Amino acid sequence: MWAQILPALLVSLRELNVMPTCPLDNEIIKLHEVFRDNCCNREVLNLQVYCRNSPACNVKSSLGRYQDHLQQCSFESVQCTNEGCCEKVLQKDLKEHLGLLCKYRKELCQYCNQSVTSVNLKTHERTGCPDYPLICPHGCMQIILTKEVEEHFVVCCEVDIDCPYKQYGCPTKIKRGKLSEHENIYLRDHMLQILERNLQLEDQV
Ligand SMILES: [Zn+2]
Ligand SMILES: [Zn+2]
Ligand SMILES: [Zn+2]
Ligand SMILES: [Zn+2]
Ligand SMILES: [Zn+2]
Repeated sequence: MWAQILPALLVSLRELNVMPTCPLDNEIIKLHEVFRDNCCNREVLNLQVYCRNSPACNVKSSLGRYQDHLQQCSFESVQCTNEGCCEKVLQKDLKEHLGLLCKYRKELCQYCNQSVTSVNLKTHERTGCPDYPLICPHGCMQIILTKEVEEHFVVCCEVDIDCPYKQYGCPTKIKRGKLSEHENIYLRDHMLQILERNLQLEDQV
């Protein structure tokens, strides 16, 4: 390994005006004297090293296998893979983070079954979910789905509507549920209003 990185190291040391020397005899090391020693390379790769996550991780592995170990080391910190999440967690906690804790995990909306990013779920329920149940805002106490609101308002007994005899002159605005009561009480008035309108029309003709 040293044989692989040493030439590059020497070049950068020279740029810094530092002369590298041998730790054994203090002789200056020259770039053209550095060569790849496969035997030494093997020896170095067999050196036993402690995991960088010690003492949490007590694994000791050869330098050659070290990268492989880090890939599986429970105590290695890894980036969450969910889009939008910047959190780093220990490898051993990643599964729980992805499935339960990550704000950017996908969850199924309990009402419409759409897959929604966890952090947006509440907003989705309140503003984007077609199947979210609401209590009618007009006070009829009926539970309606968001997608059926318009449909419901057309029949809701608590919505104010014009008396159907408005065109004949009845000015009443009344809750839909009270309309037949109004029609019964004002039957005579409505008849008179129609008659009067007819007379007016005849006069015009
Ligand atoms: Zn480890
Ligand atoms: Zn995450
Ligand atoms: Zn939904
Ligand atoms: Zn209603
Ligand atoms: Zn009326």
